[in-house]
Amino acid sequence: MKLNFDCVIIGAGIAGITAAIYLKRSNVNVLLLDKGAPGGQLNGISKIDNYPGFSSISGPDLASSLFEQMNNLNIEYRYGNVIDVENNEDYKVVTTEIERIYTQAVIIATGRQPKKLGIKKEDELVSRGISYCALCDGMFFKDKIVATIGSEHGALTEALYLADICKEVIMINPKDVFAGEEDLINKINNKPNIRIIYNSQVTQFNSKNDVLDSIVINDKDKIEVSGVFIYTGLEPTNDFLKKLPIKLEKQYIVVDDKMKTSIDNIYACGDIVKKSVYQLTTAVSDGAIAAVNVKKNLK
Ligand SMILES: Cc1cc2nc3c(=O)[nH]c(=O)nc-3n(C[C@H](O)[C@H](O)[C@H](O)COP(=O)(O)OP(=O)(O)OC[C@H]3O[C@@H](n4cnc5c(N)ncnc54)[C@H](O)[C@@H]3O)c2cc1C
Repeated sequence: MKLNFDCVIIGAGIAGITAAIYLKRSNVNVLLLDKGAPGGQLNGISKIDNYPGFSSISGPDLASSLFEQMNNLNIEYRYGNVIDVENNEDYKVVTTEIERIYTQAVIIATGRQPKKLGIKKEDELVSRGISYCALCDGMFFKDKIVATIGSEHGALTEALYLADICKEVIMINPKDVFAGEEDLINKINNKPNIRIIYNSQVTQFNSKNDVLDSIVINDKDKIEVSGVFIYTGLEPTNDFLKKLPIKLEKQYIVVDDKMKTSIDNIYACGDIVKKSVYQLTTAVSDGAIAAVNVKKNLK
């Protein structure tokens, strides 16, 4: 069997790009595939204050330095929406909507995507008032009143970003406290145009002329808003793994300390794996470990 690559990496977020850098610098014939913009979740983060080496950097700026580093190393990068991974003893086949690629090893680095709330009208109002990315859509709501939904890190950083653009940000927190760094919570509490509503659930989206105009919380209180930004969690992007008998736990890929999955020569790294900390630093670490171990096992 003539193989196209030694290793195919699925997903060009920070984990996949790190793995690609390590493999390319070890002279491995590697291909990096992504169905979206390189950088993955980085493209939707307004401000990162906890990544070593940068006191503060925007997600898109970090993504573009990673992309530049990839290009300087001549890492082969292609657009590809992967729909299947097939396991054979000596080779794997990665299928995208446009091609079949034969490779010795695979690294899965497909990260996570925003979880939907599952409320009526949510899908039809996306880009018509509902968004999962403040950095992408925040400017559409300049000087308007918006709400964020969520209690964790993403909701905190993105509410702060929106507060600098919008007239008012109403944070709907389903819990009685925020879960996040103290520093961020203090900044939120000190922003005069952020109002917090604790212990509350959004139960309805209302629209006028197919555009969101208000939300209802706890089935009773109506609040008029032009936009809603949903940060209620993320779920692993694994829909292309349906036919592969790979071990998952709560939809996350189970790996060992070498980032190897339950299948030989298939590794995984970053937010797609089952672990305790989902951050940029851990994604980078996973990517490096996966790459070093892929290299060790290539024939
Ligand atoms: C709002 C927000 C704020 C955050 N703030 C911070 C922070 O301040 N500090 C911090 O350390 N972390 C932060 N994080 C977490 C951090 O962004 C993630 O841990 C990290 O980006 C995960 O990287 P990854 O490479 O594993 O996955 P991702 O960035 O999710 O990349 C996965 C890539 O895989 C691609 N892909 C998926 N499926 C397929 C397919 N079938 N075919 C081809 N390509 C596919 C996607 O298009 C994507 O580009 C934040 C996250 C969010 C959402």
